[in-house]
Amino acid sequence: MSADTLRIGLGFDVHRLVPGRPCILGGIRLEHPTGPEGHSDGDAVLHAVTDAVLGAAGLDDLGTLFPPSDERWRAADSARLLTLAMAEVRGAGFRVTSVDVVVATEGPRIGPARGAMRARMGELLGLDPGAVNVKGKSLEGLGALAGGAGVAVQAVALLARSAEE
Ligand code: MG
Repeated sequence: MSADTLRIGLGFDVHRLVPGRPCILGGIRLEHPTGPEGHSDGDAVLHAVTDAVLGAAGLDDLGTLFPPSDERWRAADSARLLTLAMAEVRGAGFRVTSVDVVVATEGPRIGPARGAMRARMGELLGLDPGAVNVKGKSLEGLGALAGGAGVAVQAVALLARSAEE
């Protein structure tokens, strides 16, 4: 494989964590008294991963493909949005080879959910869970997201142009 068949993409997302919302992150429902606010289910992990994958493929970002102003995406399942984005990525001739994610929050504990998130995102991305990594990070009590007020997520995705031979 020559180097120019590989593409890297970066995704980032932030959501407030508020009472009365299901805590859905990484395609998994976590037991927690607050959850991400948003016009969709607010899954900041899947949003960052989707933007990383779309970015690597040179496609429009999540907010452009599925605009918040469109009623079709109100309360949307972010797993469905990622599935639709993956169809665009495959259509552009790419496959995902690995994804790595950092979830910075002092809300829900990420560590105990890592395995389930990796398995679920692997399903959605067509990857072995070993090629999807997730790490939780504390905010050290600093900044506006500290104390469980929010969640910030960074994701990188490596894509390869699908083999034609
Ligand atoms: Mg988002």
